[in-house]
Amino acid sequence: MQLPDGVAVTDVAARCRGAVLMLLESEDGSWGKQELAQWLTGPYRWPASFAKPREIGIPPSSRRMPIPVDRLEELLAETRNEVQAAFARVAESTDISFSYAAIHGGFIERCQDDQGTKGWVPVDRQGMRLSERAISLIAVDYLVRPGDYLGLISVCKECSRVSFDALCRVRQACHRHRVSQGRIAIVK
Ligand SMILES: [Zn+2]
Repeated sequence: MQLPDGVAVTDVAARCRGAVLMLLESEDGSWGKQELAQWLTGPYRWPASFAKPREIGIPPSSRRMPIPVDRLEELLAETRNEVQAAFARVAESTDISFSYAAIHGGFIERCQDDQGTKGWVPVDRQGMRLSERAISLIAVDYLVRPGDYLGLISVCKECSRVSFDALCRVRQACHRHRVSQGRIAIVK
């Protein structure tokens, strides 16, 4: 598919990464049904809006999700675990099987921007699990910017936060814990 004029393949990838990192922030337990709905219709919706609609009408992600409130925290936790595991595998052993899963599952689709650059977009299909939506986002980001995943990504030893930063990777720490490590080093 052709992206609209002015929308670059790298913009889509950046928004995919932003959306998935935001989803990981739900760890503090502050997300309810409303926050998830806002995520689906906001940060997730934009990159997922370009793939050919499978049916006419309201985008599937905007439809009311049949999730009982008592299962929401479990659903978010499962999704975070799957995403964090995929990030950890790529950081530890450059295992990018999540991208094959996304391609074979039809969670992502090829695209091209007005500069002729080829990339990928996530597909917003009815009935997709939240974790499949999240994996589609990191697969798009990885396939467009593989160097970031193979050379920059790290998972913090202290808090499991994912960073795309060379210094964080050297220290195996997020920005926050890198700074605190630095302070300890100065005190010593
Ligand atoms: Zn950390």
